[in-house]
Order: sequence, then C-alpha cells, then structure tokens
Amino acid sequence: MDGPSGTGKSSVSRLLASRLGASYLDTGAMYRAATVWVLSQGVDSTDVDAVTAAAASLPLEIGTDPTAERVEVAGEDVTGPIRGAEVTAAVSAVSAVPAVREKLVAMQRDIAMRSDRVVVEGRDIGTVVLPDADLKIYLTASAETRAARRNDQNVADGRGDDYAGVLADVQRRDLADSTRALSPLRPADDAVTVDTSDLTKDGVIDALLRLVHDLQGARS
Ligand code: C5P
Repeated sequence: MDGPSGTGKSSVSRLLASRLGASYLDTGAMYRAATVWVLSQGVDSTDVDAVTAAAASLPLEIGTDPTAERVEVAGEDVTGPIRGAEVTAAVSAVSAVPAVREKLVAMQRDIAMRSDRVVVEGRDIGTVVLPDADLKIYLTASAETRAARRNDQNVADGRGDDYAGVLADVQRRDLADSTRALSPLRPADDAVTVDTSDLTKDGVIDALLRLVHDLQGARS
C-alpha cells in the first residue's frame, strides 16, 4: 500500500490487515523512528554523513499487530514522539539518506518474508521493497482533501487549527518525497490506484476487500 500522506492510508491499511487476519507494517513509522534516533544523537538531519553514521547503530524494534502499535528505539516506546512536529519536519531529510533506506528496506523485507500475510504501508513498497507483492495499491487524494483531513485530526487531538500551514506541509512533503533521487514516491506500473477524495473510510475498505477477493477468486 503506497501513497502520499493524508490519504487515510494508515488507518485503512491497519483496518484492512485486521479484516484479513494479516500482519501490518507501517514503514513510515520506521523512518520516523530513525529520525527520533538521529535527533536523539544530536545529529543535524541534513548532515548526510552524520545521519549515515547514526543509522549504522539504529536500535529499532517494530511490532506488526494491526490492533496495537509498537515502535521502540533503544528499548523506549516512541509511538508518541514519532508523530511530533520536530520529527515530521526532519523525516523527509532522514529518509532520503541511502544508508537509512538500505537498512530499513532490509528490515522491511525480512519482516514481510517472515509473515504469512502482511499489509505493508509506505511510499516505495510496490516499486522497491516488495516488487513481487500479490496486490499493489496506490492510495491517493487531492492535496486539499488530505490537508483538511490532517487538520481535522489535529483539531480533534488538541494540536490546533491551521489548515493553511498543514496544506503547505503536505505540499512540501509531497514534493520532497516525489522528487528525491532514491525511491521517489510513485505508483508501481502494476499498482491499482484508488482515489479516496470522495470515499468514506468504509467505502475505501470495501473497495480494497473487493480487490483482495477478486485476486483470490482469480487464483482458485
Ligand atoms: O507515512 P508517514 O507520513 O508516517 O511517513 C513519514 C515519512 O517517511 C514520509 O514523508 C517519507 O519521507 C518517509 N517514508 C519513506 N518511505 C516509506 C515510508 C515513509 O521515505 N516507505
């Protein structure tokens, strides 16, 4: 499951995994956790050499239960900090560093190989991490829709109301993620694109379950 931020990708992926009895891997959480580690080492996220050195000793643990998020760095629960503003501002730079991607992609492949069925969510899963995945979905929505959803979430979580600021952040991250040299954000050639702009979460889940069932039907 690939796509930009704010498409509802995380909640949809998690719910889809639960409905399918599958494991769930949030690769964005891994890049965010790597960013927590880099910042905790006092490293400037734009210093590629220093980020590369910090990545070599990244002590990351991530769970795959879709009903219970678990992300630990050096044995500490970082599920809160990985969503903070400081990490969100630095994660694009950290995730563009080749050594970070190499390390996390290897972990992602290893976790996927050890899982019977798994929904893996990110930006480059269909193109780079798991090019042989049975089903590739590219979830998308307009930047305005995505910013409005994220802003509503911020308001609900007591993090303030700033639609213009959130839209600017969404556009900045889209640009950074889709134009970077290494693993840019784009749909795989054989991905099914699902636009969630005019769909409810249940509508998206129904569409995805249909795709999975069609695939299973075609194979049996
Ligand atoms: O999905 P989420 O918004 O939590 O991802 C945070 C950031 O991690 C993205 O903006 C992107 O820079 C990076 N990322 C990535 N490759 C992935 C998943 C996330 O580069 N597979």
